[in-house]
Amino acid sequence: MMENQRVLAIIFDLDNTLVDTAGAGRVAIQKVCDLLNSTQVQESHIANICELFLQKLLHESFDPSEGRTIDDVRIRHWYEALQEARGTDPDPALASSCYYTWKNTRLQVLDLSPEVRTLLEELQEKYKLLLLTNGDSQTQWEKIKAVRCEGLFSEVVVGGDHPEQKPALSIFTYCFEHLGVQPRDCIMVGDSLSKDIQGGINAGVKATVWINSDSRCIPPGSVTPDYTVPSVLNLMDVLAELS
Ligand SMILES: [Mg+2]
Repeated sequence: MMENQRVLAIIFDLDNTLVDTAGAGRVAIQKVCDLLNSTQVQESHIANICELFLQKLLHESFDPSEGRTIDDVRIRHWYEALQEARGTDPDPALASSCYYTWKNTRLQVLDLSPEVRTLLEELQEKYKLLLLTNGDSQTQWEKIKAVRCEGLFSEVVVGGDHPEQKPALSIFTYCFEHLGVQPRDCIMVGDSLSKDIQGGINAGVKATVWINSDSRCIPPGSVTPDYTVPSVLNLMDVLAELS
């Protein structure tokens, strides 16, 4: 029976699935606070500046065809955050310093934990592994290089390099073709219900595994994952159940 076919391939999300991007982001924001504290910026404005930046990052839309790089866009976020919080035009060099402090700290802190690396090395012996991450090409490839994980996967697929990102069927189809497997041979592992789990379900994978590290509830109207685990380190238990 199809249901009993064993899993051949595992597709992983990157951010907040294999690496703690949110945690690295908090460290990076703290570094920017330290930087701003050493400047003329009033201390009472600093938390607000960082909050405004994070809001802009969250609602960012980036179109590489407009000729700006993601660095330009995000330096602009800091510029506007400094401007809005203080009501005056900031020194552009300060916006640039905030951005590179944030970006470089995030890349320095981001890493695969030794436990996750070991897990992937073990899985790699039995399964084809593919990394499928949404986001713009430059940002995601910088993270992938920073965590030195390319060798652990048969293929690394960055959404920004493709016409459509998760949860679109087209990018999943691209992955299956590169792995040389059928959707029903794969499981999808990720922390986003709307991107990873929805995408996996749409694509017809054998099972979806939701990484729910902060015990979130599944919101009404959301898709339901087949498995929910607190960490990717619990994946062996899921695979044991599936086999
Ligand atoms: Mg994620």
